[in-house]
Amino acid sequence: MDPAGLTLKLLLVGDSAVGKSSLLRRFTDGAFEPSLKPTIGVDFRVKKMVVDGRAVQLAIWDTAGQERFRTLTPSYYRGAQGVVLVYDVTRKDTFTGLESWLKELEIYTSKSNTVKMLVGNKTDKPDREVERKEGLQFARKRSLLFIETSAKTQDGVQHAFEELVRKILQTP
Ligand code: GDP
Repeated sequence: MDPAGLTLKLLLVGDSAVGKSSLLRRFTDGAFEPSLKPTIGVDFRVKKMVVDGRAVQLAIWDTAGQERFRTLTPSYYRGAQGVVLVYDVTRKDTFTGLESWLKELEIYTSKSNTVKMLVGNKTDKPDREVERKEGLQFARKRSLLFIETSAKTQDGVQHAFEELVRKILQTP
């Protein structure tokens, strides 16, 4: 048996500046930097966690700024058990852009049981453009897990990854 336990590949996907790198940083380091530099080169971070008594090691990939074109290389998606699809609740365009990301996910993850979670980030900001209810409805329609987060205050962040991993562990 692998002494490190099960390793899962997770991906962060979504428009530029929605907070993907900040969520990753918050989850793996417990930190938030308001002036985080744009991701250069493919980046992934490893995090161990125990979910429902099972030790798992997560390799969480961040998009390297390629997401500007709303498309990523096929190798990014390969072997991913889980995808975190992020939008910014204060920018409606990042919510309407979700359709385009879901099309991309259909192309690259259709042959696998990849679990998808929709995350509405930046709930700490007052200038909201997407209500929680809209996010929830969208997620239900598309059979996605759903949670709102703030990488800044850490609200929902741990819970989001835990729920995603829990669902992956339950998926045959
Ligand atoms: P990425 O391009 O999707 O990786 O987005 P970043 O993580 O680089 O974040 C873009 C900007 O939004 C940065 O200035 C972050 O500090 C800021 N940001 C990210 N998450 C939050 C959040 O939850 N709340 C607030 N207020 N700002 C955030």
